[in-house]
Formats: sequence, structure tokens, C-alpha cells
Amino acid sequence: RRGLVWLRNDLRLNDNTALYRGAQSCRELAAVFIACPISWQEQDEGEPVVAFRLACLRELQQRLAERNIPLYFLEIARFQQVPRAMEEIVHKLEIEALFANSEYPYNEQRRDDAVRTALKNAGLQVEFCSDRTLLPPGAVKTGGGETYKVFTPFKRAFVARCGSDYFAPLPPPRKMETAAGWPRWIQLAEQHNLVRTIPGKLPGYELTPDRNGRLLGWMPGEKAGARHLRAFREKIGRYALERDFPAKDATSRLSPYLNCGAVSIRQCVQMAFAENGGGWSGGNQGAECWLGELLWREFYTHLIAAFPRLSMHKPFKPDTDRVPWKYDAQLFRSWCEGTTGVPIVDAAMRQLNETGWMHNRLRMVVASFLTKNLLIDWRWGERYFMQRLIDADLAANNGGWQWAASTGTDSVPYFRVFNPYSQSKRFDRHGEFIRRFVPELRHLSEKAIHCPPPLDGYPAPVCDVAQSRDQAIAAFAGLRNL
Ligand code: FAD
Repeated sequence: RRGLVWLRNDLRLNDNTALYRGAQSCRELAAVFIACPISWQEQDEGEPVVAFRLACLRELQQRLAERNIPLYFLEIARFQQVPRAMEEIVHKLEIEALFANSEYPYNEQRRDDAVRTALKNAGLQVEFCSDRTLLPPGAVKTGGGETYKVFTPFKRAFVARCGSDYFAPLPPPRKMETAAGWPRWIQLAEQHNLVRTIPGKLPGYELTPDRNGRLLGWMPGEKAGARHLRAFREKIGRYALERDFPAKDATSRLSPYLNCGAVSIRQCVQMAFAENGGGWSGGNQGAECWLGELLWREFYTHLIAAFPRLSMHKPFKPDTDRVPWKYDAQLFRSWCEGTTGVPIVDAAMRQLNETGWMHNRLRMVVASFLTKNLLIDWRWGERYFMQRLIDADLAANNGGWQWAASTGTDSVPYFRVFNPYSQSKRFDRHGEFIRRFVPELRHLSEKAIHCPPPLDGYPAPVCDVAQSRDQAIAAFAGLRNL
């Protein structure tokens, strides 16, 4: 029979559950990718993440072609148009079974439900696979059958449940006998063409890779992702000790690849298990710590699947909507541009703007600065991150922002506000990171760089850190249920 794999943020050949299932159970197999630039823009997916996705798709197309699996590309404006388009595609390509890996944010789930219903009504077999996470959301529940809302018990239950389970990655799909029966392109209704040429860019998305194929310094694709994973294996043992220091290259930098699926979560776990005696607690401190971070990703994805309001810009703790958030466009701009006059914040924001990525410690620092010191609505920061991050992921980003803003479940307590100057001295002691991204401060000594004296060409701090901290705490203290 003829099958179709609908690719989304799972852009790899290896260990791709839907792709593997499709190849196992069909005689002929094609793949389709549906770009929805307007919906993506409406949910704040920015140029870096979309351009990276498209570039990974292009690499994957070649690898699929080697296995006689043609990849079709369709561009339509919105998710709402997908079910109809999909009905037409499967009809014209004479497809009998559709395979896809599940996605968990609310809009994506609704889109997929509509596609499932439409195709089942048309008599197709439809299979949505669990692939993005180690266990499907909902699989780990409290004794009372509830979703875990706190990370540590979630982690404990997760590890107990999968103690010695081995999340073995799947092999790549088999080579199909032929691709000869698949047309080069077909015309769909409303002037939409289903084509086998992936465009260089999409409307509204101008960013493209440079001459060497890199995007903001990142090499897209499954092969590049595998190289990152191999390189990180060499240093995983030091992860627990070094991961908090942004000047060091001590974390895996796998997030862009994990996010668009160029690397799978099981490949990561397999590598870490191999370095850690085959399981969660084999005594390799670095590997254990890293596995814990992978479980944060798991935790936030399970949460977003369980609580649709997290996809809707709502705080997990409803009472926090009564915080008197500020909507000061000028202050916000200084934060976005890295001109707040607080060096570690400015260096971090410039790292984001220049590379599409920010070190985790600094994500916490700048999010705390925006939401506590500037008391600006966390949703402004969440949105800016979505627009600028090459690893923008609704679940992890929303989780991180609500954690920092103390609006989420298992958040930082509102009375514990990061002091950016102490964070800077502690985690960038010699000012190496600041010097890298804030050239105006390069000449300053290790002592002066964290909180510089008035300088020509560098702004004075936009707020008094101690005073604004007290104001933030007071603003939260009046609320109930925190
Ligand atoms: P490593 O330290 O090597 O960790 C390995 C992987 O574990 C990461 O690639 C990521 O998939 C996962 N991970 C690690 N920490 C976390 C975490 N706290 N929450 C969820 N997953 C985690 N991560 C994203 O992938 N996309 C986002 O949009 C995103 N937004 C964030 C916003 C804020 C305010 C904060 C505080 C954190 C955010 N994170 C986000 C989580 C984390 O900062 C990044 O995953 C990490 O910095 C990526 O670098 P790495 O791949 O070198 O991570």
C-alpha cells in the first residue's frame, strides 16, 4: 500500500518513529512538509527557528531521496487550512495510510485532531506516534492520577518507571523499492501547488543560510546534529561543574537540533546512558546532571500537553495576572537591544540577537531582570525569545519564562530575585563573556566590568537593582495563592 509521512519538527532519518513505521508497513512511501507561515508568525515563531527548520528540511530531502522516499512541500497560510489540503493530497497521491509524530502545543493538537478526523472519515489509516518525548505526555501520573506539577517528584516517578528501560533509537527507514510512481508536483485547489522543490525562504521570513550553509553560525541538518552530540560526549563528564559558566563551551548546544528534530531525545539519552554505566545513576556526575536537564524538557512538554492554557499566554498561577506588570516600550527596547547598562544582561541579549541562542544561566538572569527588576509582563519577554531563538520551543520557553516570573508551577519563589551583578561576578568572574559581546567594556578590569562606573558610549543602568527588587517583591506579596 501507499503511505505518507507528514514531517514537522522531526526532521531526521534516524530514529524517526513515524518514518520508520511508514516504511515498515507500506510498499511505497512519500513524505510531506506543510509550511504555515502565517500561523507560525501568529504564534511568534521567528526567523531563526523557521529558517533553521527549512534548512534542515532541505538536507533531509536529499537523504530521503536516497531511500526512494520523495519529499513534497506545500505552503499554505494557516493551520486551519491543513485538514482540507491534506484530504486533497492523500486523494491525489492515492494514499492509504498517514503517519506523523505527535506535537503537543494546543494549536498543533487541534490541527492534528482535525486532520485525523478528516482522513479517518475518508477511510484512511492514520497513525500518530509518540516520538518527541521519551514517554508520551500523560504516561507519568501521580498516585492520584494527576499530572505532576513539580519537577523533582516528576523526575523521581519518571526514573522509577523507566529505571532500566533502554530507550533504544530506531534504525533509519528501509530503502523503498522505487520512487518512480510519484509525480514531480500536483496542483491543489486554490492555486496551491504540492511540489518537490523546497523554497529558499518563506513570505515574511527573510533569513537564509550564508555561503557556507550556516545560519547565525549554526550548521543545519541531521549530520551536524550528530556531530554536536559526538563532540559533547567528549566533555559530558565536566558538565555538572562547568555548565553554569557562559564563557565556557560546556553545554551541548543541541537545543536547535532537538527542537526541530534533527537529533532525537532517545539518541541523547543513549549517549548519556553509555557514559553513565547504562542507566540514570551510574556515577558519572556530568551525565547524570545532563540527563536531569533532558527531563526538564520532558517535564515542560508533558505540562503543555496537559494544560492548554500554557499555550494561550496564560499564567499557570491565575492570581499572578494581578501583578501590576508594566508595559514600558522604551525600557523593553533597552532590554531587547542589550542597552540596559547592566553588563551581564546586555552581553546575554546581544548573544541572543547575534547567534540566536543564549546560555541557560543567562536566560534565567535576563528573564528575572525583565520580569522582576523592570516588572515588565513576562509575555513580552517570552514573545521576544520566541522571535529570536533558533531553538524556540513553546513548551521549554513558556516553562522557562513562567519559572523566572514566578507565575508558573514549580517556579522560583517570588521573593528570591536574582541579583544580576552577583550572578555576573559568580558565573563570569573574569568578565570574559561580557567582553566578548559588549566591546564598549572590553578595556575594563575584572573588578570594574560587572558594574562599571559612568562611561562615554555605555548607558547608565536603567534601574536601581536593589530598589526594583524590593518593589517587585512587594507587588507579588499582596497576591494570594503564591
Ligand atoms: P544543555 O545544557 O546541553 O541541555 C541539553 C538539552 O536539555 C537542551 O538542549 C534542552 O533540550 C534540554 N534542556 C536543558 N535545560 C532545559 C530547561 N531548563 N528546560 C527545558 N529543556 C531544557 N530551551 C529550548 O530548547 N527552547 C526554548 O525556547 C527555551 N527557552 C527558555 C527560556 C527561558 C527563560 C529559560 C530560563 C530557559 C529556556 N530554555 C529553552 C531552556 C534552556 O535554557 C535551553 O534548553 C538550553 O540553554 C539549551 O542549550 P544546550 O542545548 O546547550 O543545553
